[in-house]
Amino acid sequence: MNQIAVQRFPITLREVEVIGVEDLSPRMRRIVLGGEQLGAFRKDGRELPAFQSLGPDDHVKLFFPDPRTSSIALPQQGDGRLHWPDDPPTISREYTPRAHDASSGRLILDFVLHDGGIAGGWAAGAQIGDRIHLAGPKASMLLPAAERYLLIGDETALPALANWLEMLPDTATVTAIILIGDEAARIPLKAPESAEIRWLLHDPGQTDVLVGLVRDEPLGQGVYLWAAAERKAVEALRAHLAPRKDEGGRFDVSTYWTLRMEQEMA
Ligand SMILES: Cc1cc2nc3c(=O)[nH]c(=O)nc-3n(C[C@H](O)[C@H](O)[C@H](O)COP(=O)(O)OP(=O)(O)OC[C@H]3O[C@@H](n4cnc5c(N)ncnc54)[C@H](O)[C@@H]3O)c2cc1C
Repeated sequence: MNQIAVQRFPITLREVEVIGVEDLSPRMRRIVLGGEQLGAFRKDGRELPAFQSLGPDDHVKLFFPDPRTSSIALPQQGDGRLHWPDDPPTISREYTPRAHDASSGRLILDFVLHDGGIAGGWAAGAQIGDRIHLAGPKASMLLPAAERYLLIGDETALPALANWLEMLPDTATVTAIILIGDEAARIPLKAPESAEIRWLLHDPGQTDVLVGLVRDEPLGQGVYLWAAAERKAVEALRAHLAPRKDEGGRFDVSTYWTLRMEQEMA
């Protein structure tokens, strides 16, 4: 079986600035980040490397102030790693670099706009000149070779799915299934000519949705299945896939968010 190639990077904390805000749809906001610290920079006597992101599903951690105190806890930069404070702990959320252009010093992140979240709320109110800290990516999974790619994700995975579709060669055989909560979430995607792209309406509370999508799919040798979505749907998919490992396909399945009811948040 082919090994997945991963390139690791020294983990670096950077302070960046919002240099662009654009609505891709009523449900997704693009934030363009810039600033000197996306390039190589020097801080507290340390030489820190330029930002790099090479894989479709890389992720960075964004740090936010505690909404109750407005104060922010940040990790401290070490040599190639970060030291994490315990008290107060950091508040961070993961996002996918949608594009990075080292020559123009721009990093693009696309945020699902949803109610009640620190990160979603930050994106909804973001303005040019706002500053934010981010760390990572600590590694990039380089495009794995496969005879067929089956890519499944919900709206939070749309940036990663868009990366996959853009990075795969034109000759790739790929099916992408994108789960959206509203028709308004559809955005144009650049993809290999023969890609099959299916947009499906779904309710994030529907935990068997991923299983339903793969149940009748052949997952044998040569197939690469990538999926990312809400926790319970992912747990159900993992349980379904466990006995299917023998079929020979490769599975890369991740939880991207957790649906919490109001009473759980109190
Ligand atoms: C590797 C990785 C990459 C990711 N990339 C992206 C990305 O590029 N773009 C992106 O938008 N998200 C992405 N996510 C998902 C994102 O990190 C989560 O949605 C995160 O929980 C949002 O944080 P928040 O502070 O807005 O909400 P939280 O504080 O986590 O949650 C607050 C409330 O909002 C609800 N909630 C959280 N996320 C969503 C959602 N997406 N839709 C509806 N309700 C929600 C929760 O159920 C809860 O009720 C990624 C996650 C991972 C692990």
